[in-house]
Amino acid sequence: MDLLIRKASIRDNPVLVDLAIAGGRIVAIEPDITAPAARIIDAAGRVALPGLLEPHIHLDKALLDRRMPAQTGTLAEAIRITGELKRHQQRADVLARSRAVLDMAVMHGVTALRAHPDVDPIQGLIGVETALELKAEYADLLDIQIVAFPQEGIIKAPATLDLLNEAMRLGADVIGGCPYVEPSAADAAAHIDRVFDLAARWGAPLDLHADFADDATDPRFATAGLIARRAIETGWHRRVTLGHVTSLAALMPDAAAPVIDRLAEAGIHIVSLPATDLYLGGRGDAASPRRGLTPVRRLRDAGVNVAFSSNNIRNAFTPFGKADPMLIGNLLAHAGQFGTAADQAYVIDMCTINAARAMGLAADYGLRVGARADLIILDTMDAAAMLADLPLRAFVIKDGRVSVTATQACVIHRKRGSASMPAE
Ligand SMILES: [Zn+2]
Repeated sequence: MDLLIRKASIRDNPVLVDLAIAGGRIVAIEPDITAPAARIIDAAGRVALPGLLEPHIHLDKALLDRRMPAQTGTLAEAIRITGELKRHQQRADVLARSRAVLDMAVMHGVTALRAHPDVDPIQGLIGVETALELKAEYADLLDIQIVAFPQEGIIKAPATLDLLNEAMRLGADVIGGCPYVEPSAADAAAHIDRVFDLAARWGAPLDLHADFADDATDPRFATAGLIARRAIETGWHRRVTLGHVTSLAALMPDAAAPVIDRLAEAGIHIVSLPATDLYLGGRGDAASPRRGLTPVRRLRDAGVNVAFSSNNIRNAFTPFGKADPMLIGNLLAHAGQFGTAADQAYVIDMCTINAARAMGLAADYGLRVGARADLIILDTMDAAAMLADLPLRAFVIKDGRVSVTATQACVIHRKRGSASMPAE
């Protein structure tokens, strides 16, 4: 055995267990495993979780907040600033900022991440090419999936179609989409048709930015039902993910129900992006500004798989963030009113198993025998309080290898004289 984790607390299990890891997989989960191991970690009752996931993140546009600092914080300014900066993207700079985000993610226990680099005539393929380089560079720390994301549209920027095909030829994993940037409802529908055609051509899953608005009065921002119908027609069941989908929250229950039912029927995964959605949503509301989140509870209750992610990290659209799913989960729990014990457990599911389903990783994921040994040990004994405590990730383990050891926690605990920290 390569690694033995002793006395870990795992969710929904009343007794502490040992986890045996060999060949990058979990091979046993039992109390008191006695077989010899090359390395032993004593979790001392601390909580183990499967690796955290970031199913929607923009590496190429991250950490731009100090390049051209926002003066007013408005959405119009954010579009202007980011558009200007994107025109001057340099490969080395994109790599450096992307690495800074990936390092944050690894430190916070992220073991797989889906990047959405822009693919358009402005920055060409620089976002995809740098993401591919980083996918190889970070392979022993986290898995990177790459979405070819047509941020500037396809119908209004026709050269994008060739770039999307080239991105897939280079090795991108997923076809992206952004129908709401097209100038008309007909063009948004045509955009959706194009990306489904691309998905069929490349046999790839789809992950679209969709319905990112405060209300659904403009049909370009009310495409979720149409996308679900296309997923059913094309047989892309459970292979389509939608990010944002905030306008759905503005519909009254009777109007939302048929859309939500169709999303469930199509097996569409929804990824809420609360940092961006809260920051940009409700800007036009003179009083009681809207929260701007997709209706997570109604989607969940209808059987839709819902996850969340960081989206942007520190740019004019999202000035905060550190690629920590726990932090975003805490934010979503506040804004979406997920505070009961069951609700908090669901929020943890959202950034673990639900995100794994959205990323197509579920078959190999989780704290169970046979799954990949991607897991974290948190500096807390109390699984029920994770979302409140936001505990340090004491150990991060990727494919059975320890990638992060948060030693500073040991110092604090020794000073307090409390129970011993995870030790080797
Ligand atoms: Zn996004």
